[in-house]
Amino acid sequence: MKFHQGAAWQRGRLIPVGEASIGVTDWGLTHSDITYDVVMVIDDAFFRLEDHLDRFEASMAALRLKPAEDREAIRGALHTIVAASGLTWSYVSMVCSRGAPEIPGIRDPRLCGNHFFAWCVPYVNVIPKDVATRGAHLWVAKSVRRIGEDAVNPRVKNYHWGDFTAGLFEAYDQGADTVLLTAADGTVAEGPGFNVFAVKEGKLVTPARNCLEGITRMTVLEAAAEAGIMVEIRDVPLDDFLEAHEIFTATSGGGPVPVVRVDDRIYGNGVEGPVTKQLREAYWAMTTRPTLRTPVQRKTDLR
Ligand code: PLP
Repeated sequence: MKFHQGAAWQRGRLIPVGEASIGVTDWGLTHSDITYDVVMVIDDAFFRLEDHLDRFEASMAALRLKPAEDREAIRGALHTIVAASGLTWSYVSMVCSRGAPEIPGIRDPRLCGNHFFAWCVPYVNVIPKDVATRGAHLWVAKSVRRIGEDAVNPRVKNYHWGDFTAGLFEAYDQGADTVLLTAADGTVAEGPGFNVFAVKEGKLVTPARNCLEGITRMTVLEAAAEAGIMVEIRDVPLDDFLEAHEIFTATSGGGPVPVVRVDDRIYGNGVEGPVTKQLREAYWAMTTRPTLRTPVQRKTDLR
């Protein structure tokens, strides 16, 4: 099948994901002047599609990006690509780049034609499934910090990943599964593609700043509220974080994942803690709630 590896919508056309491309003079490539959002299709329905569209629109507005497509057209493109791919579990990315300048080399962002495109591939587990099952080993980066939020707004989902990539190499050199970055002030920020939570004295703690306001984070916070678990959204100094009883990550690509080790410290005797388990199960239960699901429209061509 033409779209079995995934599908893309670009310049008004439905194409195989491998054929989607971005020009070498596009500021998305040359200046990381681009934003994106990722929504998952879980069992044939988008999970929290309107929340992802809200965040994508807010990110575009923050960067003063205005593609030709409105929300309805963007939503339609997402349905079109997933329907074409035939995928029932999918990682679906919507992207808006500054685009290529009218005259190559000029420095005026107002003279670039903003460029929306979308693509989907089979569902992605940000932390591989086998690692998630045994519990992840996090490494706190020592050689690099998360880019300052006064320089790049982390609430705008971005491709400024130089810090994450450097951190990942450091983590892999230490035999860890993935990395956690701190901010310049030593508080916990986030990892490459996930937010983090600590469970301390039965309370759930997560950073207030220096991170993306993840949709999974929001879902976990809602699940905690429903379960009567107290929540603190605040600055979390690294030492404070490391003294937790339980730690877990949260991302659309795989949901909450238990962390059983950070650097050389073992949590919960190396197995998932009870609060993490409760919230992870509550998260997956929420993915089946009809109010949070938008079934993929398979028959209609919405382009
Ligand atoms: N933080 C970063 C840097 C991310 O890239 C992501 C998602 O890819 C997240 C956090 C988690 O966000 P969400 O739960 O919306 O997937």
